[in-house]
Amino acid sequence: MSQRVALIGQPLRRRHSEIMHNAAFDHYGIEAAYELREIGDSELGGFFAEARGPAWLGFQVTAPHKQAVMAHLDHIEAGADAIGAVNSGVRSDDGSLTGFNTDAPGFLSALVNGLGADPAGAQVVVVGAGGAGRAVTWALLDAGADRVVVANRDVDRAVALAGSFAHLGPVVAAPGDGALAGYLATADIAVNATTVGMTSDGAAFDVTALPDHAAVFDLVYIPPVTPLLRAAASRGLRVSNGAEMLVRQAEIAFERWTGVAGAADVMRQALAEWSPDAQP
Ligand code: NAP
Repeated sequence: MSQRVALIGQPLRRRHSEIMHNAAFDHYGIEAAYELREIGDSELGGFFAEARGPAWLGFQVTAPHKQAVMAHLDHIEAGADAIGAVNSGVRSDDGSLTGFNTDAPGFLSALVNGLGADPAGAQVVVVGAGGAGRAVTWALLDAGADRVVVANRDVDRAVALAGSFAHLGPVVAAPGDGALAGYLATADIAVNATTVGMTSDGAAFDVTALPDHAAVFDLVYIPPVTPLLRAAASRGLRVSNGAEMLVRQAEIAFERWTGVAGAADVMRQALAEWSPDAQP
């Protein structure tokens, strides 16, 4: 019996996950397919009834369902619970479904293994307090960052994020752009976790304020070179876009479904062959 995984969301504009996972299923000789399922809120119950069936390995979730799916699952792992978002899940043999979050470990793996930046003991600035900002901030605190400063256009959201993670480590909300410049001046790592650079032009923060040793990570992967990354690279700073995070989070989910570790190379290659723009 061929096995199944589906990505649910609405709208589903991107095929990156389908390309990566199906290439890995092929490469490792696993008879399974990764499908895209564009469904609305009212269809979540029906989907999760179906996904308890024996053909299913698990599922992935994208906007706008990362929070709503939590009510449909049997178990939520601690990281996803703290972040408040599930983007992946696995089916157990008894048909129960466990939700987890691969954005956080995917970011960390790309930061450490891809960009070569060490979050342990680091001063970090994260701009963005949406779902990705929450996952990134949780990952950085979990990895032992010395301090994480969160900034957001809507400052109240940054304050709420910092408040909800205060028990995990030193995290503060930057009250405004003036304060952010001071924090950027001492940052070892600066992260864009907003949609700026993807859905709007410009850069989420000013790289001229960063010290020379700083590393800049932009979660945006389309376009592959954002104005932020262009400015940071032209200053000689180490930079990464979000493509490697996308690959690493997929690798983590794939291992949970199949037991096969180390699929990142196959997935990266599949993306590169599918679309030159998708290359990390
Ligand atoms: P989200 O929950 O919708 O949050 C959007 C964030 O962007 C909020 O902080 C929002 O600020 C901010 N923002 C939007 N427009 C802005 C503007 N014009 N100026 C300043 N800030 C603005 O989205 P998300 O899920 O966190 O995703 C954020 C980004 O991360 C997206 O580009 C997404 O593609 C990327 N991402 C990448 C990966 C990966 O694997 N590479 C994984 C997850 C997400 P307000 O709160 O003030 O609205």
